[in-house]
Amino acid sequence: MITASIAIGQVAARLAAAGIEEPRREARLLLAAAHGIDAAGLLLRAELDEAGYEPLVARRCAREPMAYILGHKEFWGLDFAVSPATLIPRADSETLVAAALAHCPAPRCVLDLGTGTGCLLLAVLAECGTAFGVGVDISLHAAALAAHNARSLGLGGRASFIVGDWAGAIAGQFDLLLSNPPYIPQGEITGLMPEVARYEPSRALDGGEDGLDAYRRIIAELPRLLAPGGVAVLELGLGQAGHLAELAGQTGFACTLRQDLACVARTAILTR
Ligand code: GLN
Repeated sequence: MITASIAIGQVAARLAAAGIEEPRREARLLLAAAHGIDAAGLLLRAELDEAGYEPLVARRCAREPMAYILGHKEFWGLDFAVSPATLIPRADSETLVAAALAHCPAPRCVLDLGTGTGCLLLAVLAECGTAFGVGVDISLHAAALAAHNARSLGLGGRASFIVGDWAGAIAGQFDLLLSNPPYIPQGEITGLMPEVARYEPSRALDGGEDGLDAYRRIIAELPRLLAPGGVAVLELGLGQAGHLAELAGQTGFACTLRQDLACVARTAILTR
């Protein structure tokens, strides 16, 4: 047994040596999670059991993302279960939710292509009390997890999730289409930080040779998927805005951009 403050110091030193940027904060989170308490409760504990937290610390030292170790991640103020079948929701993607709500404040039906945890669709449904949403993912495990998230957020009655290859199985027209598709150029994936390159599903990252494969698939389907006056809101990677505007233009769509907190053009809003 070991006191909490000594344990925090020792774990933080190991995390720092493994290249983790906020070692003390993460040490507290890991120790608390291992004991089933919150970080404040940790300091009230007289002693901790090293064997109890060692497996979690070893996973983080191998650069497994915190969200996979803890099993959940906050997005748009909501709590999402995550698993290795899904991308971890990013704060950057909240820009997409804000843009969607600004351009389409009262959608009746919403489609989310590549839904992962369901974070984009469920954030929009949480804000739009009468909207109904459909989330599609090519991974059965992701679709099942998104359905679980919908139920635990009390949105299960307004969301349905299916397994499919983009919009291939979807009929009908939607007021709002959301997608944060894989957009990393294939050759750049191994150079990403280890948390992403080693642990996040490559299917959720890999955008083909130039990173634009998924946009080509999605934009080609927009004319049939969007209801009159409908809006598509897509997340973008660094430097992709010009290419996206061009693809949109070829299909007869206008493209406006919205920046994230780091002033990166992060979201494209496509309208007829
Ligand atoms: N829509 C999910 C998200 O934004 C998953 C995206 C993906 O897997 N590329 O987190």
